[in-house]
Amino acid sequence: MNTAKIELHLHLDGSLNIAWAYRKALQRNVIEKGTSFEDFYNILFARNLAHSAESIRKFELVCDLLQTFEDLYDATYDLCRRLNDIGIIYAEIRFASQQHCKKGLSQLDALQAVIDGADKAMREMDIRTGIINCLMHKGDSASFNEKENLEAIEASEKLFGNGLVGMDLAGYENNCDFKEYAPLFRIVKEKGIPFTLHAGEMGIGEHILDALAMKPDRIGHGIDCMQDQRYIDALKAAEIPLEVCVSSNVKTTMNYASHPIRRMIEAGLKVTVNTDNMIFARTDLANEHSQLKMIGIEEAFLIQSTYDSLDAAFCDQKTKDQLKQKLDKDFRR
Ligand SMILES: [Zn+2]
Repeated sequence: MNTAKIELHLHLDGSLNIAWAYRKALQRNVIEKGTSFEDFYNILFARNLAHSAESIRKFELVCDLLQTFEDLYDATYDLCRRLNDIGIIYAEIRFASQQHCKKGLSQLDALQAVIDGADKAMREMDIRTGIINCLMHKGDSASFNEKENLEAIEASEKLFGNGLVGMDLAGYENNCDFKEYAPLFRIVKEKGIPFTLHAGEMGIGEHILDALAMKPDRIGHGIDCMQDQRYIDALKAAEIPLEVCVSSNVKTTMNYASHPIRRMIEAGLKVTVNTDNMIFARTDLANEHSQLKMIGIEEAFLIQSTYDSLDAAFCDQKTKDQLKQKLDKDFRR
């Protein structure tokens, strides 16, 4: 049975329907004519999502499939449909508007396309959504794409409250000094937009402290906090929810049993369970719950973490109240 679930960390470009993506890739000449489905599948299966040329290529490939209003709209609608099918009642879907302007789309139009695709799904199905726009961490200094990041903030401000619920910092966190992004998030904070930050995913626990200094509402991944008690203590003191994505990490360097999620729960951290990238990690939230049960994590934790996800969601209070009623009904609370 599909129990009600809440997804807070899911990338649109990393979660495409693979059959749709293959068709589009051929149509749009993103892959060579004659590339078989099997070859396409193998390109997208990321063995190492940590900073590598191989994984940059995968992300570029899926972004190249999403360069028109229509394609962004269709991909978002289709993603919502698949999430609805596995019992997700609320999903925050993230993408970086600046990655979708190669064919002349403005960042504002890219955002609107994703919001409109999600709106169509909400009209037709019993799923609620919120869109998160990611600033990008790329290049060897924050000045590399500062202009695009500032444009992303400006576009997000225009749609905040009308589909957009928050912002994020995504990309390769070890590229340059994490702290260089602080001025951008001071602007986001001033505008009153909630935000999360990818931090402590790629091996450097100190980034947890850099991220906390920017006063985020949540942290994406954060698993490197287990490197040092100082990081754990800082997260607990700030009461910051972590968006943990187990299969996504497992596909890089560890296995399910060695993943730190169990120790993170035992340490008293606010752990929420999420997916990250359905296509690259070949998973979805239903599978994440199953995998966690396989390594001995109790159903009671999964239910509690679903309520914690709702608490940490960026949607408005009225939506939260409606979603809570659904959870209570499903879990008979
Ligand atoms: Zn992510």
